[in-house]
Amino acid sequence: MLENDLVSAAALTATIDSSPLSVEAEDTLQRVIKAMGQAAKTYALVYRSGALSGVFSYDNAAQAATYQVNFSQTSVALWMTPIDWLRPLNTSPPWPQGFSRLHPEQPYLPVVDQAHHWLGLLTPNGFCTLPDDAEMVSSGRAELTACHYAAALFQQQQERLALALQGAQMGTWDWDLAQGTIVISDEQERLLGLAPGEFDGSYDTLFTYLHKDDQAAIHQALQRSIQLKQRYGVEFRVLHRDGQTRWLSARGQVFDDGEHAPRLAGVTLDVSDQKRAEAEIKLQSQRERLVAEIAQRIRHLLDLDSILAQTVTSVQAFIEADRVIVIQCGADMSGEVIQESCAEAYPPMLGWSLRDPWSVGEKFLAHYRAGRGLAVENIYTQNLPPSQLAFLEYFQIQAEIVVPLLEDQTLWGLLIAHQCRSPRAWRTPDVRLLQNLATQVGIAIQQAKMHRELTLANQRLKRMAYLDGLTQVANRRRFEQYLDREWRRMSRENGPLSLIMADIDSFKGFNDRYGHQAGDNCLRLVARLLTRAAKRPGDLVARYGGEEFVLVLPNTDLKGAETVAEDIRLLVRSHRIAHEGSAVAKIVTMSFGVASALPASDGSPAQLVKRADDALYSAKHQGRDQVRVDGERLPIQGGREAD
Ligand code: GH3
Ligand code: MG
Ligand code: MG
Repeated sequence: MLENDLVSAAALTATIDSSPLSVEAEDTLQRVIKAMGQAAKTYALVYRSGALSGVFSYDNAAQAATYQVNFSQTSVALWMTPIDWLRPLNTSPPWPQGFSRLHPEQPYLPVVDQAHHWLGLLTPNGFCTLPDDAEMVSSGRAELTACHYAAALFQQQQERLALALQGAQMGTWDWDLAQGTIVISDEQERLLGLAPGEFDGSYDTLFTYLHKDDQAAIHQALQRSIQLKQRYGVEFRVLHRDGQTRWLSARGQVFDDGEHAPRLAGVTLDVSDQKRAEAEIKLQSQRERLVAEIAQRIRHLLDLDSILAQTVTSVQAFIEADRVIVIQCGADMSGEVIQESCAEAYPPMLGWSLRDPWSVGEKFLAHYRAGRGLAVENIYTQNLPPSQLAFLEYFQIQAEIVVPLLEDQTLWGLLIAHQCRSPRAWRTPDVRLLQNLATQVGIAIQQAKMHRELTLANQRLKRMAYLDGLTQVANRRRFEQYLDREWRRMSRENGPLSLIMADIDSFKGFNDRYGHQAGDNCLRLVARLLTRAAKRPGDLVARYGGEEFVLVLPNTDLKGAETVAEDIRLLVRSHRIAHEGSAVAKIVTMSFGVASALPASDGSPAQLVKRADDALYSAKHQGRDQVRVDGERLPIQGGREAD
């Protein structure tokens, strides 16, 4: 392995294989290769007496195959790369944190490339790999070389070897670079999708079997290997006659001893299953990540509209459906399309009410209620009644996935993806995605509902905190806050602000005569009358305490406020609420104190309250059932009588 190759490979894709395959030094080549095939590994760690003694890889198998050794009788130890051949690399990556060593006495971690070919071992001394100039043939194999090399390479495949290789499902091939002929094993022909003996031995013919997108890369790899006399490893696709595409992995090397004709020889394995599994895992994890992302986005939203809008757009983009809708189920199990993401070419369904049995009919209800979905590849193969077909055709629906949206065990609605341009064989991951999302959306719907209820409860609480329980007008706290706020506003806008203090006359006597209950009712009625009199949106009626009310009138001057007070006085009187014990009249009457200020230049809220209160005192003092305005001279000086 060239150092540069390793560095670039390491930078790109090198990973630590956390589950390497272990074999015993006495195991035969055949057994080891078979085990490698079963474990989908391109190398095995070879142990002798419990200690790591070497690594047997695909490359070693290729060497052994080109020497035509007896796979079923030769031990792996003879063809492995012994551990002491490895040398630390200068530009070695550090020991990764968090990785424990596989073996306490022999601390190492095997490192593989993207294709899972062995690159070397990571040890506390650094990354150890075969040096560039490593003698590829061990002393044990030197004898083999001497007597077998020439003969073996020019011989036909030995039957024994063929059998062994077949057992391991490994193909071999041998390219005479001088003559240009290629000899391949029966197993290799099978791997290429050919009948035994079908291959004519030419390089050009060989290439016709390879996937056209892989041809250039293979050609380059082979040329490079010949020029640099180095090993090669390629993965490529072949298209079999039955239409199947298979992934093959080929490893080999150039043999050129200067005496004999140079050759390029190697072995091939079918790695389709491994490839498919890898691709599936990759796709699956990609999808899972995306679904998690979408779900998280949805779960962060608190209002139902945004949740559903996000759901339909994400799903449409993700599974490339032509239309995605959310149907909300009504009590009678009709449905209304309340969200949609639809490709422009197709008619929108948003706002449609559906009684379509295809979507929410009795037949499917139990199915949906149990949380199960439905995938239809082609509506024309479902034996649907003509009316249903007509409905689906109207919206150009050819295939669909329907999954239920359950809110706490009850069927809330349906999430549906449509394919309009053609029928569609839905893939399991698509269905699973929709089902996963539907679960998340169900939780989000519940969350949104809880959030809405909480918001309403908070609003209620807030209202309660500012309302007088008996009369349902603003309470004293709200009055003070409101007066402050309006004071500042009028100060900015340079407008007048008026207050009316209103107190029921001889209310003690009312209670005494009619009872507290009647008193309460009277208070409620008066509060309603005051509210009716305070006509402007900015006016506020509050219960100041006991039988005393206050009105805040922004943008109202003294004259205007006096008029309002007088109107209220007459309004209350006009209701003729019996009050036999009153010294003023035989009906309920009220007294009013009015004051006004220009907050931009004039005093404070407290002073305004005081002045209105003083005016009220004046009204009481002068006989009740009247309006007094601030600033009028009081006929008698002194404090206000106790209420
Ligand atoms: P004045 O004309 O001087 O205002 O005489 P008054 O009797 O109305 O005044 P006073 O302050 O002496 O009495 C107020 C009475 O209002 C005392 C209490 O019995 C009554 N009152 C205060 N709050 C309530 C209430 O919530 N419900 C009822 N029923 N009565 C209340
Ligand atoms: Mg009173
Ligand atoms: Mg009072």
